[in-house]
Amino acid sequence: MTAVTAATPTGSADPSHASHRAKSSAAAPGVPTSSGRPRVLILGGGYVGLYTALGLKKGLRPGEADVTIVDPRPYMTYQPFLPEVAAGSIEPRHVAVSHRRVLPGFTCLTGAVTSIDHAARNVTVEPEGGGDTLVLEYDHVVLSLGAISRIFPIPGLAEMGIGFKTIEEAVALRDRVLDRLDAAAAMTDPDERARALTFVFVGGGYAGIEALAETEDLLRSSAAQHPTISRTDVRVVLVEALDRILPEVGEDMGRWTLGQLRERGIETFMERQLKSCVEGHVVLSDGTEFDADTIVWTAGVKSNPVLNASDLPLDKPGRLRVRADLRVSGDDGIVDGAWGAGDACAVPDLTKEPGNFCAPNAQHAVREAKVLAKNLMAVLREEPTTDYRHKYAGSVASLGLGKGVANIYGVKVKGFPAWLMHRGYHLLAVPTFTLKLRVLLDWVGQTLTRRDMTPLGRLSHPRDEFIRATAKPPERPSSVRDKEEQAAGATS
Ligand SMILES: Cc1cc2nc3c(=O)[nH]c(=O)nc-3n(C[C@H](O)[C@H](O)[C@H](O)COP(=O)(O)OP(=O)(O)OC[C@H]3O[C@@H](n4cnc5c(N)ncnc54)[C@H](O)[C@@H]3O)c2cc1C
Repeated sequence: MTAVTAATPTGSADPSHASHRAKSSAAAPGVPTSSGRPRVLILGGGYVGLYTALGLKKGLRPGEADVTIVDPRPYMTYQPFLPEVAAGSIEPRHVAVSHRRVLPGFTCLTGAVTSIDHAARNVTVEPEGGGDTLVLEYDHVVLSLGAISRIFPIPGLAEMGIGFKTIEEAVALRDRVLDRLDAAAAMTDPDERARALTFVFVGGGYAGIEALAETEDLLRSSAAQHPTISRTDVRVVLVEALDRILPEVGEDMGRWTLGQLRERGIETFMERQLKSCVEGHVVLSDGTEFDADTIVWTAGVKSNPVLNASDLPLDKPGRLRVRADLRVSGDDGIVDGAWGAGDACAVPDLTKEPGNFCAPNAQHAVREAKVLAKNLMAVLREEPTTDYRHKYAGSVASLGLGKGVANIYGVKVKGFPAWLMHRGYHLLAVPTFTLKLRVLLDWVGQTLTRRDMTPLGRLSHPRDEFIRATAKPPERPSSVRDKEEQAAGATS
């Protein structure tokens, strides 16, 4: 284990300013030692982490603090575009915001936080590429670790299911869908074929519904390329425990969306739960049974469990307890030097009755991060903080090419106009001019040419071809070999 201090901007490391908290002056390669300035450590570089860092970058005076951001991925994922990545409308790299590119002068460390000892003001980090565990010390820590899929102990789910929160999962789902169609086209056993062509989505929130609707669109286009497969051969199934979907756009728009999905031939099992899916044999709570090769799990999220490995105050569901000014707060009041926002935290919603918390979504995460950055700088300057307050504006969701649904401040929009709103809103919201341009070009390209439907699942096994090349080639059939030997003998 190597003890290091955190948060000296690259190029300005000054060991002579080593903080009194440093356990050792030995810094891991690439991680600067302390400069003596306040050290801000941001854990998680998603929505909250990135926007907090951008806020600090904009607001900090030269030399006012050293900032380090830690994440196992060296980029922020623009999650609202993942359904379009799965559908092939947007290139995967175009939804990733490189930390190093947008945060010059800050230290970006690619690794996973494994524990947080706030009393000692340090965290342990496992570097992604291997090597010693690092101990990073700080004066202020920002907990922006987000959420993970909330999974129940359902037999078979861990083996068969795939989540939908990361670029890798979105790309894998797309490849899986296209690969299953290809495989089914060559299958002769009707049961095997039906299983390959059955795609189950569990969970009817916006992540699940957008993923399902975009995937169905992709399936429809892809099936049209297979002369032996029609859309009616393909089974797309939604399983939802409640009697409604898309609560984010309101009850009536959710009902309308459900009707649209049914019209598109999507089977909807409402008020039912997945009970088991051992080896792809799906069993629902009402006894319905069928086989499926693809099961996508989007039934909710829970706060990042790494918070359990900390001495910070959590609420019953495991969320970090924070005040409206985004400082961590326990039973004994404010926890000095600890900040939190986003999906991992219980942020009081001041626009509602006391006891309500902000929903886990990007709309809050971005705004919270901006307030958090300002308040952190205010504390550094011994100025007063301000509370986070934002009235939820509603939501827009894409339901496939040219289809959408929206409810913004009570204004309800359906179909093509809602889809345009979705694209327009997210084009403005996606960070950096570079990504805006790339996403726009993806959309224009897709409109001018046809949707690309090449499955590239083999990308995750790049050595297969080389391994095949190193294998012993098959023997020539003995009858052919005998003839060839006779012919060779005759000519020699
Ligand atoms: C498919 C999908 C579609 C969505 N669409 C919308 C939408 O249309 N509108 C909307 O408002 N919201 C949407 N959301 C929700 C929104 O993306 C989240 O609410 C938002 O990302 C939360 O921000 P966050 O910073 O709390 O978490 P995240 O953005 O998830 O960031 C958490 C970060 O922590 C990192 N991390 C995890 N573990 C560790 C560790 N041990 N150490 C260090 N770092 C770690 C992760 O790699 C990640 O970068 C969508 C979500 C999904 C999955």
